[in-house]
Formats: sequence, C-alpha cells, structure tokens
Amino acid sequence: MRHRIAVVGAGPGGLTFARVLHRRGHPVTVFERDPAPDARPPGGTLDLHEGLGRLALDKAGLLGEFRALSRPEGQAMRVLDTDGTVLRDWRPRPGDLANPEIDRGLLRDLLLGPLDVRWGRHVAEVVPGTRDGVLVRFADGRREMFDLVIGADGAWSRVRPAVTPAAPRYTGVTLVETSLDDLDTRHPDLARLVGDGAVAVYGVNRALVAQRGSGGHVKVYAQFRAPLDWHTDPERHLGLPGRGRVDLADAEAVRSALLALYEGWADPVLDFLRRGTAFAHRPHYVLPAPHTWPHVPGVTLLGDAAHLMPPLGVGANLAMLEGAELAESIAGAPDTADLDATVRAFEQHTHPRAARWAQTTAAGLDRLISPNPTAALALFDEVQPS
Ligand SMILES: Cc1cc2nc3c(=O)[nH]c(=O)nc-3n(C[C@H](O)[C@H](O)[C@H](O)COP(=O)(O)OP(=O)(O)OC[C@H]3O[C@@H](n4cnc5c(N)ncnc54)[C@H](O)[C@@H]3O)c2cc1C
Repeated sequence: MRHRIAVVGAGPGGLTFARVLHRRGHPVTVFERDPAPDARPPGGTLDLHEGLGRLALDKAGLLGEFRALSRPEGQAMRVLDTDGTVLRDWRPRPGDLANPEIDRGLLRDLLLGPLDVRWGRHVAEVVPGTRDGVLVRFADGRREMFDLVIGADGAWSRVRPAVTPAAPRYTGVTLVETSLDDLDTRHPDLARLVGDGAVAVYGVNRALVAQRGSGGHVKVYAQFRAPLDWHTDPERHLGLPGRGRVDLADAEAVRSALLALYEGWADPVLDFLRRGTAFAHRPHYVLPAPHTWPHVPGVTLLGDAAHLMPPLGVGANLAMLEGAELAESIAGAPDTADLDATVRAFEQHTHPRAARWAQTTAAGLDRLISPNPTAALALFDEVQPS
C-alpha cells in the first residue's frame, strides 16, 4: 500500500523532496501558499555546492540540466575596502565548478518539471496523532489527512509547532535589499565593479554586497547590526544625528537613511544604493542551534523550517540535500518497512549535520558583520579556493 505523503512548501527543499520521490514513482502532494509559481519575485541567485545542493540535483536526475542553466563565472568575488580599494579579486579558473550560481527562479522551474503542485493552499495547522493519520488544516477551512506530512515551509513554518515549540529569534543583523536592472546597458560603471559575480565591502558592523544574476539583474544587500526596530529611531539606534522615524514602505526614506548609515564609503559603492529601485527590509532570524525535537510520528521538518540559519550560502543547499535524502530513504525502503522508522532515522542523520552548519554560519555572520572588518576578509580567505 502506498503511503499518503504531503510536503508543505514549494521552496528548494520541498520541491527537491517531491521531485526525487516522483522520480522513484511514489505519489506525493505538494501544498504551496503562493497562488502561482511566479506570484512573487523569485529572489536572487544561489550557489549550489558539490556534496550538498548539487548532490541533491544528482539524486533528482537533474545535474545535466543544472549545468546548462548555471553560471560558473558567477563564482567570481571582489572584496573592496570602504574607500574603494580592491583587496581581493577572485575569479574562477576555466572549468572550475566548485560553486556555480543559478537564479532561484530557474532552479524552481527546473525542480518543478512534471510536479503537480497545489498552488494557493495555505496550511494553517498540522495535527498529528488523529485516528486516521495526520490532519492538515488549511487557512480556507479545508482539511485533508495524510500518513506523513513534511514541513518544508521555511522560516515561519506552520508545520513546526506540531513537533517543537522553538521559534526564530532575531540575530541582531538586519538586511535591506534593493536591486538594479539592465546593469550592463544602464549602469556600465557598476557592471564593471560587480564583474561576473559579486562585489562585497565590509566596514565596521556593516557590509554592502552586490551580486549579479542572469539578464543584467543585480541584487544589492545592505547588512548592518541594529536593533530590530532601528527604523523607529535611527538617531538613537544607529547614531544618525537628526534622523527621525523611517517609513520602511517609503523607498526614498530608506535610501536616504542607508546613505547616511554608509556615509564616507566610496562613491561607486554608494551608487548601488543611489540607483537601487525598491527596498525590502529582511532582518536575519535564526532558530536555536542545535535545534532538535523528540520524534513525532507522522510529521517531520526539513530546510529552514528545521534549522533556519544565517544566509551564508548553505540554507538552500542543505534543504535540497535533506529533501533528496528523505525521499530516497522512503522510496528505497521495502513496502513492509515502517515509514515512521525511516523518518526517525532521517532525523537522527540530519540533526547533527544541520547543527554543525548552523554553528558555522552563526560564527560566520559574527565575523562578516563585525566591529573588525579584517575579520570578514580573513573569513573570505579561509573559504575561497586560492
Ligand atoms: C539574501 C539571502 C541569500 C541567500 N543565499 C543563499 C545561497 O547562496 N545559498 C544557499 O544555499 N542558501 C542561501 N540562502 C538561504 C536560502 O534562501 C534558504 O535557506 C532556502 O530558501 C530554504 O529553503 P526551504 O525550501 O527550506 O524554504 P523556503 O525557500 O523558505 O520555501 C518555503 C516555501 O514554503 C511556502 N510556505 C510557507 N508557509 C506556508 C504555508 N503555511 N502553507 C503552504 N506553503 C507555505 C513558501 O511560500 C515557500 O515557497 C539565502 C538567504 C537569503 C535571505
């Protein structure tokens, strides 16, 4: 008898899980709250690492298509001092495929392939232990039953409360994101600065990173240490004299506050903020690390829902690998095997690995956005292949 399996969330983790299971001929239901795949901008670019995201794509049979869509040249990385001096200018050698970049939208479409996702299905609550299995309640009042529900619904997971009371906490580092389009034609000076990949500038307790995606699109990330409500009183919280409350919905007000915060930095670097379009406020939250939970029959978590960590190039990779591994274990188990034992083994395997990455990325964030900018450069030297 085939198990009734549902995954909540069509992010990289949920889709990889569903795609690997689908490849092995197992039915799986994917619920996603977005009404359509392109309902909101897909976000920036992801680097997929060998042994993590790329291993997951291999398990999904998608490595060949990934190679055709990814941008190995996007691994290039330039680090500048706040005065614009180039401190590092790393470019991948021809054939270097350590961490190729792929646009999130392209990755999503690649994973979607033949999957039949139920769009516009916002899960409100998951209740394990009912007589007929695990109950999934939707925001619109509908209800469905499953044998196994996988929470791949990201940072603010609605599945998570079924297994753990843990909740994300603010790291003390905020990110404000903006973007530029048609970089090569409209902003050739900034195109030269970004190169094929990214340019990063680290100052005291703040950083600015601009990263190229496909088609001349660039995402710009301003990251700084600040209380969560910095915008209510920038004078007090950020030491910006005479600056009153910033309306986060007002792009010009946010731009002006950021330009004040990064005052004194090299002009070309500030041009990313001057010319960026909309500004999105995305404070960094994390789950406690390590984050484990006593096994609950019929429900598990993967990806950010299980181990939200600072964005240092690992979260999507780990979500995908976990999705692929869990799907393989379920599909590879004999028909008589206990589904719950398979899930329990998956949790025992993934919890320590996720804890290691959560600790590594937390330490990394402390070094990248720190009172001592040389700590960021040292981190770059440690992780970048020479
Ligand atoms: C600026 C930035 C840069 C990053 N760069 C990288 C990188 O280079 N490499 C990397 O590996 N990671 C990176 N990350 C981290 C990465 O984005 C996440 O770790 C990854 O997206 C997690 O995947 P996921 O599938 O677990 O969850 P998500 O990507 O968050 O997907 C969750 C899905 O669930 C849906 N959902 C949520 N709630 C519900 C609900 N109640 N019902 C139904 N559906 C729901 C959401 O709409 C979403 O589609 C970055 C993060 C940020 C913020």
